[in-house]
Amino acid sequence: MRITPLDVGRIEAGLWVITGEEGTIDLPITSWLIEHPKGLVLFDNGMHVGLQTDTTRLGRTVKAFRPDYHPGQEISARLAARGVDPSAIDVMVLSHLHFDHAGGTGEIPDARIVVHRAEWEAGHDQEMIDSGVYDPIDYDHGHDVQLVDDGHDVFGDGTLVCIATPGHTAGHQALRVELDSGPVVLTGDCVYFRRMLDEMLVPRFGYDTELQLTSMAHLAGLRDDGCRLLYGHDGDQIEALPADGLV
Ligand SMILES: [Zn+2]
Repeated sequence: MRITPLDVGRIEAGLWVITGEEGTIDLPITSWLIEHPKGLVLFDNGMHVGLQTDTTRLGRTVKAFRPDYHPGQEISARLAARGVDPSAIDVMVLSHLHFDHAGGTGEIPDARIVVHRAEWEAGHDQEMIDSGVYDPIDYDHGHDVQLVDDGHDVFGDGTLVCIATPGHTAGHQALRVELDSGPVVLTGDCVYFRRMLDEMLVPRFGYDTELQLTSMAHLAGLRDDGCRLLYGHDGDQIEALPADGLV
């Protein structure tokens, strides 16, 4: 089994919404390709290709999170560049349905979506959609959708297991992957980058701060137990990863 990070664009974010500090930070957007003996899996899939040319639909969100996203960076192009046909992806595990994690869904035609049931529900809540938290154009493309709970085992062999980590959103989930080199956890936006876990910092716009702190403490415990955490938007960590991934 192998995990490979695919660079699917960046976001320039205001630090005021993330850590409360001044200035901006460049956040990498990553889709993780997991080659499992039983199939090809993506964990998250980046931004909608339409945001390469027009970000008006993001509304106020752009003030805090400005996409830096160009043709060739979309998930289908990144897969094709590696010789992977997007229709060969069997499963898409989505951490959550925000625009920078689920926007590439429409480019992966034949995969089954694996998403926490609370997240799918929230992503179809009209109030949430109207307030700009979610936009179904990112993820509603008629895929088979498997709604799961904490502990869902993707292939039934214990190697890919969903971990409910609510707080950033209602139904956020992380994914534990058992590599030969040891267990890895893809944290999604439960933890943007390492310092946020070290200092227990929570972005101010999340769904439920207390819940997120509990989820972060859970992941910190896994880290203490020897799990390698791969964070949602950690530029330093991504740069240090081998380009051909982890095995
Ligand atoms: Zn994100």
